[in-house]
Amino acid sequence: AVTESPTAAPAAPAASSPAATRGHVEITDVRKTFGATEVLKGVSLTVPPGGVAVIVGPSGSGKSTLLRTINHLEKVDGGYITIDGELVGYRLRHNKLHELREKDILKQRTDIGMVFQNFNLFPHLTALENVIEAPIVAQGRPKEEARKRALELLDRVGLKDRASAYPRQLSGGQQQRVAIARALALNPKILLFDEPTSALDPELVNEVLDVIRELATSGTTLIIVTHEMGFARDVADTVVFMDEGQIIEQGGPQNIFTNPREPRTRSFFSKVI
Ligand code: ADP
Ligand code: MG
Repeated sequence: AVTESPTAAPAAPAASSPAATRGHVEITDVRKTFGATEVLKGVSLTVPPGGVAVIVGPSGSGKSTLLRTINHLEKVDGGYITIDGELVGYRLRHNKLHELREKDILKQRTDIGMVFQNFNLFPHLTALENVIEAPIVAQGRPKEEARKRALELLDRVGLKDRASAYPRQLSGGQQQRVAIARALALNPKILLFDEPTSALDPELVNEVLDVIRELATSGTTLIIVTHEMGFARDVADTVVFMDEGQIIEQGGPQNIFTNPREPRTRSFFSKVI
């Protein structure tokens, strides 16, 4: 059960992009246990509207689990998360947290796009059909409108000419770009990326990172788990180093890469950079 109770709505943040007004993420003392193992040990993180947080850290440190709690794929055992002041998965009533109904959770999830390591496209649908599926099914958008918007998004990720291709006819990098267009189709407040280039051949990594770079300047709030340190340095407003279920250190890329304070951060960077 969730034990913490939120005291007040988050303070108005300093937006990192002038256009950004939505997608303020507030993670407060989040705990998650699997069996006897506590994999998130009180994680707190704020990402302002349009902000870009890059999470790095060794395998097993809880990075994926943290992303999954933001997207309702895991329930938290303690603490809470808000997006634009709205509790994720819960609502506040009589000063207690109550779980949202399935219907409300589905609605909340349309505000949160997620891109996975393994693309997760529907294999039996074309690129275009993958992108229009959620707007039509989850949001009830008219087919023509969804189609027009999907073509714009495929254009934005450089794949307008592959709209009718099936995933098996596309390279891994192209599939991941379709997955990004699909995540954007619901006009989410935030986009979560879990190692979006880890499954790609090295020569395909940059075409995906370039698309994410463009998104990073567009005002959508991004939370990105990656092992690509050069990319992190380029796009991050804040780099978050996690180890053993905790945030050990966070800061602007210039600071954290050139002058990490914590021995564990220093040791991790010395191995990966
Ligand atoms: P990371 O993404 O940083 O590699 P994860 O969040 O995937 O780390 O995993 C953190 C820890 O939680 C690991 O020890 C992992 O084995 C464990 N874990 C993750 N998901 C589950 C699950 N569904 N059931 C049990 N243990 C899990
Ligand atoms: Mg992971």
